[in-house]
Amino acid sequence: MSGPVVRFAPSPTGRIHIGNARTALFNFLAAARLGGRFILRFDDTDLARSTAEFADGIEVDLAWLGIVPHLVVRQSDRVALYEAAAERLKQMGLLYPAYETQAELDRRRKLKQARGLPPIYDRAALALSDADRAKLEADGRRPHWRFRLEHRVVEWEDGVRGHCHIDCASLSDPVLVREDGSFLYTLPSVVDDIELGITDVIRGEDHVANTAVQIQIVEALAGSDRVPRFAHHNLLVDASGAGLSKRSGALSIASLRDSGVESLAVAAVAVLTGSSDEVHAVGSLIELAQKFDLAHVSRNAAKFDPADLRSLTQRTLLKLDFEVMRERLAAHDIVGAHAEAFWLAVRGNLEKFLDVCDWWRVVDGEISPVIEDTEFCRAAAALLPEDPWDEKTWSAWTSAVKTATGRKGRELFHPLRLALTARENGPELAKLLPLIGRTKAQARLGS
Ligand code: GLU
Repeated sequence: MSGPVVRFAPSPTGRIHIGNARTALFNFLAAARLGGRFILRFDDTDLARSTAEFADGIEVDLAWLGIVPHLVVRQSDRVALYEAAAERLKQMGLLYPAYETQAELDRRRKLKQARGLPPIYDRAALALSDADRAKLEADGRRPHWRFRLEHRVVEWEDGVRGHCHIDCASLSDPVLVREDGSFLYTLPSVVDDIELGITDVIRGEDHVANTAVQIQIVEALAGSDRVPRFAHHNLLVDASGAGLSKRSGALSIASLRDSGVESLAVAAVAVLTGSSDEVHAVGSLIELAQKFDLAHVSRNAAKFDPADLRSLTQRTLLKLDFEVMRERLAAHDIVGAHAEAFWLAVRGNLEKFLDVCDWWRVVDGEISPVIEDTEFCRAAAALLPEDPWDEKTWSAWTSAVKTATGRKGRELFHPLRLALTARENGPELAKLLPLIGRTKAQARLGS
């Protein structure tokens, strides 16, 4: 049996933020853990606002997160499919022309509300005769097209929300095609879900209200056995409870990346916030996929604090093995026999990955040593052991310095750290010293 087929369907009218990444990752992980397929679908039928640059940028953002789709499709390439589906629905009598202007619809809605009736479209267009329609068209009116809903209760087992039902008698017949022949979101989405064999639609809970309509359209076009499973997850909100929007610039994936947040920290926050699993650092997306379960997602808002991304970045770096980091380190010329020992020495002292460059300079380049006490440093330099050095060299050396000078504790260690690294704090010197090496150590101590 093959795994699930899922899709992430952003409209390329902006870059994605961490809330969109949540949806993308839920889909990706659901596919990854069961050997399924992940399709990236650009909902770009809004030609005025969609751009190829945004679409390319979204692919870059997803790749940075570790998501490489099995297939990428663009709705703008698939309009013929939507037109064919609309034609079939018309032939079935399920898509009907309606001529009301927005002003007429607003007026009728207000009248209904004033009478305490639900503001549902009254299907007046269904009562038009051929002659009525011919007259309207002769007057220059163009129809928009509505799907004729069956007035029944539609039910589904939601992967997050459990049993759901919507009474379609309480809904207006949705407009699927605009006056100018362009499509609103609903029909293209359903047609693609059918055509691409989507088995699981995992998306934000802002789409729950669309689901009953979409189920009815799938049933009409392809039969009830083609209805996908649905799961509607809660949305990420910031600490003040406000939702994220395309304007949440600082939380866009691109700006998080540029600010030095690790992609796995973004993934852990995006996926685990608002679930019964605590947010914790992970070493790979596979690890996250193995833990991931839609059933653990809460129905309450998923509140997160962007500041957590920084601390999680530190904890994430600590989990990353050299093999995973080799290429990223090499991109900063951190290569050679010591590269692995270097990574293991410094990974616990990084606020962001790029801090490795400063530490590499400490072990491999030039620094300006800080000498607090010239005499003490010279005396210590004279006691440096002979090569070869390893992680025991530091304690052997400092014991000798202690015996010779009578210093201990901070008085002993602090001036040595300042001279050797020019910094107050940092990775364990037992690990750094052999990387710095005898020649440099001696020079920095001022002898
Ligand atoms: N383009 C839609 C959105 O971004 C996709 C919704 C769906 O997943 O069906 O909200």
